[in-house]
Amino acid sequence: MTFTWTEHRFSGGVLALDVANSVVLRFDPERRVDRFADAAAMDSFADAANRYGVERDRFGMLVPARPENRGSLIGLREATDRHFRARALAEDRPELLADLLEAIATVLRRSAHEGNHIALDIATAHSALSLAANPEPDRLKICPNCQWLFLDRSRNRSRTWCDMAVCGNRTKAKRHYRRNKKEARP
Ligand SMILES: [Zn+2]
Repeated sequence: MTFTWTEHRFSGGVLALDVANSVVLRFDPERRVDRFADAAAMDSFADAANRYGVERDRFGMLVPARPENRGSLIGLREATDRHFRARALAEDRPELLADLLEAIATVLRRSAHEGNHIALDIATAHSALSLAANPEPDRLKICPNCQWLFLDRSRNRSRTWCDMAVCGNRTKAKRHYRRNKKEARP
C-alpha cells in the first residue's frame, strides 16, 4: 500500500520541522516509523508540501531531492531534529547548532538548479537556517503524544499537541478508555 501524506503531517509550522517530523515516535524503538525510508514517500513529500506546507508561499513549487542528494537531506533532517529538540527542552548544546549548520552547508554545496523549481533538500536547508537564526524558543514545542516538533503560533502560546484533532483526541480517548476500564472493575 502506498503511503499518502495528509495535512496532519504538516503540523510543524515550518518546512524544516515538517521534514524532521517524517519520523514518527522517534524514541520508541518498537513503534518508530521513518516515512523517508521509502524513497517514493520521500519524493511525494515535496508534492504534499506544495499543498499543505505553511512555507509554500516562500518556496514556490518544490520538487523532490535528487536521488544522489537524499542522503544529505536525511543528514540535515537528523541534525534539525537534534538541534531544535534540544532548544525546545532548553538544553544548552552549542555543538548541535554547529552540526546543523554543517548539515545545511553540505546540502547547499550540493545544490543544483532545477529550472524554476527548488528541490526539497535546498528548501529545507533554508527553512532550518531561518529558524536557527530567528528562534522562537517559547513557541517551539514537542508534542507529548507523538514527539513531533512544532511551532505554537497561537496568540497565547497555549497549544499542547502538534494537532489537537489527532494527538489531542487520541490522548483523551486513551484516558477515557483507562478510566472506564478502572470503573468497570469489580
Ligand atoms: Zn502529536
